Amino acid sequence: MAALVLVVNCGSSSIKFALVNPEESEFVMEGLAERLGETEANLKWQINGTKESITLPPKADHKAALSHILPKVEKVAVAEGKLKAIGHRVVHGGESFTQACILEEDAIAAIRNTAALAPLHNPANLLGIEAAMKLFPSLPHVAVFDTAFHQTLPDYAFRYALPENLYTELGVRRYGFHGTSHRYVVEEAARLAGKSLENSGWLTAHLGNGCSTAAILNGESVDTSMGFTPLEGLVMGTRSGDVDPNLHSYLHRELGWDLEKIDHVLNKESGLLGLSGGLSNDMRSLVKAREEGHEGARLAIDVFCYRLAKSLAAMACALPRLDGIIFTGGIGENSVLIREKVAEHLVLFGVSIDEKHNQECVGGKAGTIHRLGSPEVWVVPTNEERQIALETLACAQKNK
Ligand code: AMP
Repeated sequence: MAALVLVVNCGSSSIKFALVNPEESEFVMEGLAERLGETEANLKWQINGTKESITLPPKADHKAALSHILPKVEKVAVAEGKLKAIGHRVVHGGESFTQACILEEDAIAAIRNTAALAPLHNPANLLGIEAAMKLFPSLPHVAVFDTAFHQTLPDYAFRYALPENLYTELGVRRYGFHGTSHRYVVEEAARLAGKSLENSGWLTAHLGNGCSTAAILNGESVDTSMGFTPLEGLVMGTRSGDVDPNLHSYLHRELGWDLEKIDHVLNKESGLLGLSGGLSNDMRSLVKAREEGHEGARLAIDVFCYRLAKSLAAMACALPRLDGIIFTGGIGENSVLIREKVAEHLVLFGVSIDEKHNQECVGGKAGTIHRLGSPEVWVVPTNEERQIALETLACAQKNK
């Protein structure tokens, strides 16, 4: 009988869920509850491609949504195998969590204590955890952290050049995010390449709405582009990535903007959206607009690719060897143009893309896209839910 894991990802007003058989990449069931806390809360799900949806009671919260979701999941799980555990995605584990852990009182308290580092995410994650634990008390609940994979960074990669007490007293350091995805794709790439993960060096680029790079040596993350928050590093959909830290005081002095306004602009109005003059944060739209001659779209794509290539080149400092560069996430898995343009900036590394293979690796197809003689360049579709399910099952079995 298949061992199944329910993977739950709670945002501040949404719950994404998937019923996963970790042996397979397709999900048994998946769905999304949206607009929680609003008058028009709703729930959509699909089982084997068949879509359904219901309207939730007005202002339904996380617990109300989960009380609709869980019986449906249970019914499907009974028919398809056996539900063994629930895996919760938690954005920030601070320095307390280096791997997935069983959610007991101590762990929940530690996640709560980390809330100051992720004020938008961890409290929402906790709402889901607490509601699901009440509704499914007999199953093991496991937390899988976005930050945990990067806890292997050496101090010279994770420390900022700031006064020491900001680190020791406030935890100001680089944490990195998207750990679940970086880990999944590097393990997949090593498997597909027939290489030993424990004896390899890779650069990964997770390019979705949020974007980050990582350097992974012998299966461990040794550097990554996101830092104290997911704002650091690359150009993203609406996030600026790196800017001069003095920009804050300049904007305050010149425009009278307060910190909230500056936060909002850097997180929600910048990145591809800002560079394209407000046209779009969506790479598909920008690629199309660029073809039609839109200057803002051209610039947004050029800055995106240059900054990404620069980040990969910088990440190479963390590796004594390079087995391959891996593209993943919606943009990395699908955009022939972005992969080609990034490679053009990495010519000094000998990177060269095969046009035909680049065209072929789209829409969920994994493979290599480099020319003979170039360092290997891989496209590997990510599957964060499956990685969370794998870690959840392993953790639950270890703690039996
Ligand atoms: P994700 O957050 O991983 O779902 O990725 C979302 C991003 O992937 C958006 O910017 C999409 O425009 C982008 N994306 C998806 N498909 C394509 C495509 N065929 N070409 C370019 N970008 C794409």
